[in-house]
Amino acid sequence: MQDLADRGLETEAALRRVFGFESFRGVQRQVVDRVLAGRSTLAVMPTGAGKSLTYQLPATMLPGTCVVISPLIALMHDQLRSARANGIAAATLTSVDEDRAATVAAFCAGELDLLYVAPERASQPHFRELLGQAPLALFAVDEAHCVSEWGHDFRPDYRQLRPLMDAFGDVPRLALTATADAHTRADVLAQLGIPEDGLIVAGFDRPNIRYAIRHRENGARQLAQLLAEQPGPGIVYAPTRKKVEALAESLGKASGRPVRPYHAGLEPGVRADNQAAFVASEDMVMVATVAFGMGIDKPDVRFVAHAGIPKSIEAYYQETGRAGRDGDPAEAIMLWAAGDFAQARQRLGEVDEARQAGERTRLDALARLVETPGCRRAVLLRHFGEDPPERCGNCDNCLEAPGVIDASELARKLLSAVYRTGQSFGLGHLQKVLTGAGDERVRQRGHDQLSVFGIVGADEAKLLAPLARALQARGSLLATEHGGLKLGTDARAILKGDASVEIVRPPETRKERRRSETPNPAGDPLFEALRALRRELAAEAQVPPYVIFHDATLREMAANRPASLDELGAIPGVGARKLEAYGGAFLGVIRQH
Ligand code: ADP
Ligand code: ZN
Repeated sequence: MQDLADRGLETEAALRRVFGFESFRGVQRQVVDRVLAGRSTLAVMPTGAGKSLTYQLPATMLPGTCVVISPLIALMHDQLRSARANGIAAATLTSVDEDRAATVAAFCAGELDLLYVAPERASQPHFRELLGQAPLALFAVDEAHCVSEWGHDFRPDYRQLRPLMDAFGDVPRLALTATADAHTRADVLAQLGIPEDGLIVAGFDRPNIRYAIRHRENGARQLAQLLAEQPGPGIVYAPTRKKVEALAESLGKASGRPVRPYHAGLEPGVRADNQAAFVASEDMVMVATVAFGMGIDKPDVRFVAHAGIPKSIEAYYQETGRAGRDGDPAEAIMLWAAGDFAQARQRLGEVDEARQAGERTRLDALARLVETPGCRRAVLLRHFGEDPPERCGNCDNCLEAPGVIDASELARKLLSAVYRTGQSFGLGHLQKVLTGAGDERVRQRGHDQLSVFGIVGADEAKLLAPLARALQARGSLLATEHGGLKLGTDARAILKGDASVEIVRPPETRKERRRSETPNPAGDPLFEALRALRRELAAEAQVPPYVIFHDATLREMAANRPASLDELGAIPGVGARKLEAYGGAFLGVIRQH
């Protein structure tokens, strides 16, 4: 018992000393304890939960080197930078590193805490020989879902990791992933030789992200408004390259902020350049296709906006998850229109039969998230198999409960009109028929003679557009090739009175969103001076500012005004190494203000 207690204290002390953190987050403690006890583990933790700490901390405490297998070189170099800034002896062994000989020598001399390699290299015989030259502390396998064919990103090289690790049978393994369903988890355990009781799953909730989903009226203007209210770095996802280019240009003009595009059609050099600029920036907006994001490890992204619907709830969760990794408040805003769903449902017809049912289920789930008058977070978390509270208090619907209207009767009228006019007219024509506003075209077709002519009163008429939107989202109405509407899946059930339709009451006035509180003190000269110093130090060290200190750490400094190195060292985020490297400079700025 005494041993355990001692080790517990020792672990906390190391957390404090190396990272300057006061406490573990979520399941970090559980994972670290297992690793320190030498037991193999699979940790499923959402983006931003702090996966890297779960091997970096043990790597500094255990004798020997922790070998980290990571699939992307860019990701490795990000990690390397952060680890080194905390004084951890880390190196990468990749084709682009020119100091490979020095790294090998340092490893053989037992001087490395962390050695990052890609799976292609890890599976080569000479790498196995190299590992035999010095004691090992741990194998950490990042993005571990890549080992499974069930996962969404299978990589054959991951299959070679098992024989490598088996060759060092007494070295514990830690597999890490953000996304793995039950099936994939079981497979990863089996493929990497980790016992079933080694599975640790963290909750999916990202409480600091505020979710909001609104109808797209004028996308460019709504986004410009967002950029005007939210000064921090952000990502705007747009569906096509053309949209990306157009939005990047219009948002850049409207906001006067640095805005750059990112999509697969750009020259690789331009892409890399834009990505590097974004990572280093404190206020840049990246307008991008979903090609952007994988392997970007920027903790201070303050918002993620979707200019159109994402592909699925999984994609939405992953993309919005790039906001607020540092734990500070962040926003996720989706703008949607009926046309997005109409197009997606049309594309369903193009995928092969076997995948259609799955794709349709995914789209239906997304439609429920968009249309819900209830808590967005609850819908998301239930989708991932959790049992969340009814309300989160930090999404649009919790903050301002929308009214709900039973529109079943009106839906029957609308669907009847669709049916009786031959399932080929658009909403404009249907509105004229239903409200009795017959024009030339209505009379020509004889639609003023139909039983549905003029059956919708003025009050209800206002609801026809949002209702049609809701029906399209859930697939009860489908778009025809010529822009008309036809009956969809459960239209008949609605017509027969077997299914009901509730819609969210459209807002009376088009209120735009309130500014979400950014935690940084606006206009505090000390805080601004600390940021300026951080920028200077970052430029000098050629790292992004957040590698020096996070915003939260600067906020604490501005609020508490530490007067000595000791007091500065007590601030969360200030580890021993950073205190030594930057302490004097930051104290100097504090003294001057
Ligand atoms: P993941 O890889 O799971 O997405 P990271 O390892 O990149 O997450 O960590 C996300 C951010 O959270 C990093 O900026 C890290 O410094 C911070 N962080 C991790 N653990 C803690 C902790 N215990 N206390 C405070 N901040 C933490
Ligand atoms: Zn909520």
